[in-house]
Amino acid sequence: MSETEDKIAEAAKKFALKNAFDYGKAQVGTVLNKIFSEVPKAKEIGFPVLKGIVDKAVKEANSLSREAIESEIGKYTFPEHEQREGLPELAWAGEGTSVNTRFAPNPSGYLTIGHSKVAILCDEYSKKYPGKFFVRFEDTDPKTKEPILEAYKLIVEDLEWLGCNIAKVFKQSERLEIYYRYAQKLIESGHAYVCTCSKEEMQNNRREGIGCACRDSSIQDNLDKWEKMGTSFKEGEAVARLKTDMQHPNPSVRDWIMFRIIDKSHPLTGSRYRVWPLYNFAAAIDDHEMDINLVIRGKEHEINSVKQAYLYGALGWKQPNTIEVGIIKASKDFAHKSDIRKAISEGALSGWDDPRAPTVAGFRKRGILPMAIREYVIASGIGKNDSYLDIKKLEAINRDLQKK
Ligand SMILES: [Zn+2]
Repeated sequence: MSETEDKIAEAAKKFALKNAFDYGKAQVGTVLNKIFSEVPKAKEIGFPVLKGIVDKAVKEANSLSREAIESEIGKYTFPEHEQREGLPELAWAGEGTSVNTRFAPNPSGYLTIGHSKVAILCDEYSKKYPGKFFVRFEDTDPKTKEPILEAYKLIVEDLEWLGCNIAKVFKQSERLEIYYRYAQKLIESGHAYVCTCSKEEMQNNRREGIGCACRDSSIQDNLDKWEKMGTSFKEGEAVARLKTDMQHPNPSVRDWIMFRIIDKSHPLTGSRYRVWPLYNFAAAIDDHEMDINLVIRGKEHEINSVKQAYLYGALGWKQPNTIEVGIIKASKDFAHKSDIRKAISEGALSGWDDPRAPTVAGFRKRGILPMAIREYVIASGIGKNDSYLDIKKLEAINRDLQKK
């Protein structure tokens, strides 16, 4: 065995014991991740050799009794931030459960620290319970959220830099045929209809809790109108709606809109499509199609789970487990992405990757290590309270890591 291999074997034993102690059972993926930070040279030896060493250590740790693990673990020291680390267990995830997650950004600019929180939590859970982490670009609104071509690439680069293990990248604008298929199915089963009421009428009916005449028209009539949405109806003349509950206490839940017409060219698909799904429809269909069993999102999305429950019900699907988390805001000056955009346009920042910008690219330029951002985010946990970024704390974690 080479010196590096000895070091790896020792680190593998230590982290396998710790992992078994913390979670009842050690996992190869988790231990591997730790090895890379503890023994930087691990990257230089072949993966099969590395995995062989880790496999052995994990097997040994898992064969020990709780008492034996406790006595063994006492021989090692763990840095303070190491002990803080780790997300809570998922009560619904049993032994051998794979957790599949997705991070779903708009391709509208660089990743901010706020976005990176959700991405890191998703990636972390998909590593903790080995499953897949997907990136899914939400780009089905070419009008009010016009996608920026460069952003598709930049966001993936930022995520990779943060150490996210991306299984696949999806773009919703390339999945319209899938959405259309389900829309057709929902109309055919009487769960959805095409509404040609004016915007004002729709708003009034929603407020009053009254279903419009379109709601009761025949399935064939709705199928014809659905077809016409793609061809002859003009923008604003028709929308496809899901039948939910016109008496629901929250008016926005009442027969929410699944699709609308947008006559604006899309940077990826040009003018090939004009009927675009809204967020809740596309997200729910994709979560099911991609076998996502854990959705992590900002708590401002709470009502969306309620809306999506009707779609899942209509299709006879099980809704994924959801954790709604508080947001990390960069600072009072940069609470929103639009604040950063404004600062750039006014010249206060040189760009999205200005070291003063609260973006992942800005932090990178400032010399913050990706592991420091990960640790900070994980320590901030999965609670619902919003918080401001504690830059002193992030820098302290960063200094700590640089010493290693
Ligand atoms: Zn109507």
